[in-house]
Amino acid sequence: MNMYIEKIRKWFIQETVSLKEALTEVEWLSINTYTYFIVQAIGVTFFVWILSTQILSNSPRTWVNFWTIMGMIVSRYLIGMWFVTVWRHRYFSHRSFRLHPRLLWLEPTIAFICGTDVQRGVADWAATHIKHHKYSDKKEDSHSCKQKGLAWCHLLWVLKKDEGIDWALIPYMRKVKGIVWVECHQWVAIISGGAVFSLIGCYFGVSGYHSFIINFLFSLCAYFTSITILWHATSLINSAMHLVGEQRYDTGDESRNNLFCALLTLGEGWHNNHHWAFPSLSTSQKYPGRIKVKASELYWQGVTRFEKCVDMSGISIWIFIKFGICRPI
Ligand SMILES: [Zn+2]
Ligand SMILES: [Zn+2]
Repeated sequence: MNMYIEKIRKWFIQETVSLKEALTEVEWLSINTYTYFIVQAIGVTFFVWILSTQILSNSPRTWVNFWTIMGMIVSRYLIGMWFVTVWRHRYFSHRSFRLHPRLLWLEPTIAFICGTDVQRGVADWAATHIKHHKYSDKKEDSHSCKQKGLAWCHLLWVLKKDEGIDWALIPYMRKVKGIVWVECHQWVAIISGGAVFSLIGCYFGVSGYHSFIINFLFSLCAYFTSITILWHATSLINSAMHLVGEQRYDTGDESRNNLFCALLTLGEGWHNNHHWAFPSLSTSQKYPGRIKVKASELYWQGVTRFEKCVDMSGISIWIFIKFGICRPI
């Protein structure tokens, strides 16, 4: 028992930087920070409210609206997560597969859709993630539990002062004008994402009232709920997947494989396999010939047959490749 308590305590204790010290890196008075807290406050309050209303009410009408709104929240989450894993992570960050050359014009549109999940632009996201692989769990890693503890790597690191995008890490994206435009106009994607979701809610009349305004605002709150769930599920990749689970390969960092996270994130939970396939700078220098995953199959996070079956994102890329929409590298 004491062993487990000690283990959990260690999640919050930082090895090199104290939380107090890490908090000085947070930019408290910024639009980014306000948005982060306001979206989550509204999203959580709304979810608790509809859930309690549903439990306490016997009205059949409320039942219909409840399941419609829940369906919209879950659908938005699954679509958002799919864009995070397939496009933000495996396509833009790791370039582990390619779009068919005739479909490359779709890249800015995909980057735009990715932006609707309010996780910054694809270039910013990819540069941070490449750095994470390069210096995994080292001082330079932006979100390392080992360096700054659980609160930092799951919640606070997104609030740190904006250091700008390191375009040198993503030279490919700099050349695509459409992606650069989307990157510099993230607010267009964010507002469009909220508006489209809310208009769908108006179409279904999710609030139970005939007022456009009430339906729109009701749906907007549900959008915040969905975004909040997506943020935390994505953050699990930085936090839980470097703390809890099996370490099959010696990757020189804390990355782990975790079935629960793999199910929640459409296959990203095989994180130790993933760090093994994309090793950090220090590890790859140490073991030059260590990558065993076939280059043409780097889009899989799973290595065993079972892990591949759980990796829904890898399966969808595999289907795209079969239909000629995408190509392996
Ligand atoms: Zn990665
Ligand atoms: Zn990692």
